[in-house]
Amino acid sequence: MQARSKPIPNYGHLIDGAVSDGEAQMVVISPATEKPVATVPDATRSELRYALAAADKAFASWSETDFAFRRECLFKFAEAVRRNEDEIAEALTREQGKPLAQARGEIAKAMAAVEKFTAIEIEPQIIRDTAEDRIELHYRPLGVVAGITPWNFPVILAAQKIAQALYTGNTMVLKPSPYTPVATLLLGKASIGAIPPGVLNIVSGGNALGAWLTSAPEVRKISFTGSGRTGQAVLKSAAANFARVTLELGGNDAAIVLPDADIDKAVPKIFAAAFNNAGQICMAIKRLYVHADIYHAVVARMAAMADAIQLGDGMDPESDMGPVQNRPQYQKLLGILDHTRRWTEGRIVAGGHVLERPGYFLRPTIVADIAEGSRLVDEEPFGPILPIIRFDDVDDAIRRANASDFGLSGSVWTADTERGAELANRLDVGTAWVNRHGGADAERPFGGAKTSGIGREHGLLGLHSYMEPLSLHVGK
Ligand code: NAD
Repeated sequence: MQARSKPIPNYGHLIDGAVSDGEAQMVVISPATEKPVATVPDATRSELRYALAAADKAFASWSETDFAFRRECLFKFAEAVRRNEDEIAEALTREQGKPLAQARGEIAKAMAAVEKFTAIEIEPQIIRDTAEDRIELHYRPLGVVAGITPWNFPVILAAQKIAQALYTGNTMVLKPSPYTPVATLLLGKASIGAIPPGVLNIVSGGNALGAWLTSAPEVRKISFTGSGRTGQAVLKSAAANFARVTLELGGNDAAIVLPDADIDKAVPKIFAAAFNNAGQICMAIKRLYVHADIYHAVVARMAAMADAIQLGDGMDPESDMGPVQNRPQYQKLLGILDHTRRWTEGRIVAGGHVLERPGYFLRPTIVADIAEGSRLVDEEPFGPILPIIRFDDVDDAIRRANASDFGLSGSVWTADTERGAELANRLDVGTAWVNRHGGADAERPFGGAKTSGIGREHGLLGLHSYMEPLSLHVGK
């Protein structure tokens, strides 16, 4: 007798306020088992056209509503997502790989961010008011926004784009990564009843769908998070229709640890900032510069923390860390590891091997005694491998930290926070921290310098990037 396997669940698009099956389907694979976990639509051009038309039509009435009404809709959306947290968190773990508790944490943070964005007041600005004239600066919604997200934090990145675009009076067509579409489609389902039909549309599909979306004439703004190479393609597409663009791209963040840093406090935070989400965070610490005086102590503690990590399937409550999210990324990391072994002086002090089981499991890996000129230091690995680099002179450390095409964020770790702030302010980045690293607040503008991005999201600056400024000059 043949064992009957459970059918894999199917999830639909959200188009014009209803969930619909696509004409074509694609399969979503679990990175922990390499088995299918779901089927989702692989959108055709005509399905995308429906979604764009729905967003375009809904813009007329949505853009006329006030901030208070839109805030209320987004609050209802957040409540609905929270009510469905069990289902969304499980889907997120199965498709993305992260431990279930972290998937729940991602959903909680995402919904808190939705609420925080809508607490930011957007008012017209009075630039001049004299007896002769008055100048006011108004901000108006743009139209249809295209949102495109990667596979590392599908829920939080989608929720941030949805909140910013909708709160500012735009409508949206959002496309999740083909590796992790399910939790995002479930956000769409949860939005029904909270957000009027057509205002939010979520369509899944491959990379071609991204290119169709970013070149669509209805799209007035593109909010893209992903790799630099795709970011360049998005910029080119946007040029055809003069669409506004925000690009949140990769990073190769440096953290610089000075000899006076409190190692007991700093090391656990540094470890978390490098290895949370299996290192798959744009603003993870990817180059750790440690002063020679404390170098051995920091390396030993970081290695001990890496060795203590329980690596496994995210559905297992014992797991602290899940697999790398997809096979190409896993292979890239193994390539960097192989290069490190063959062509560098680097010493692997923790990890350095994969688990002998299905799935993309790489032990958290720490490489000491390595320097610039290696793939591990110069590229963005985007996974659980961290180089620790020794320095003697802090000015030299700052110079080396800045000698990168990336400029997302960076940090300085020291007991002297004033000096730390001065040094951090010399980093060529979009966000600089002292004694902390990582995290994006709804209130604080976030984005990258150099090749790490264009523009800023979050905060008033970010919300304004979803709007068209209008200078109103009144003669008296
Ligand atoms: P990716 O660029 O391969 O894909 C991102 C998204 O773009 C996916 O949805 C993909 O389907 C879509 N896409 C692919 N080709 C497209 C095209 N021609 N036109 C439009 N869309 C297209 O990136 P990824 O591998 O999913 O994500 C990892 C990268 O994202 C890393 O470099 C990471 O640092 C970066 N990232 C940046 C931030 C940030 O806020 N700065 C946050 C998370 C991840």
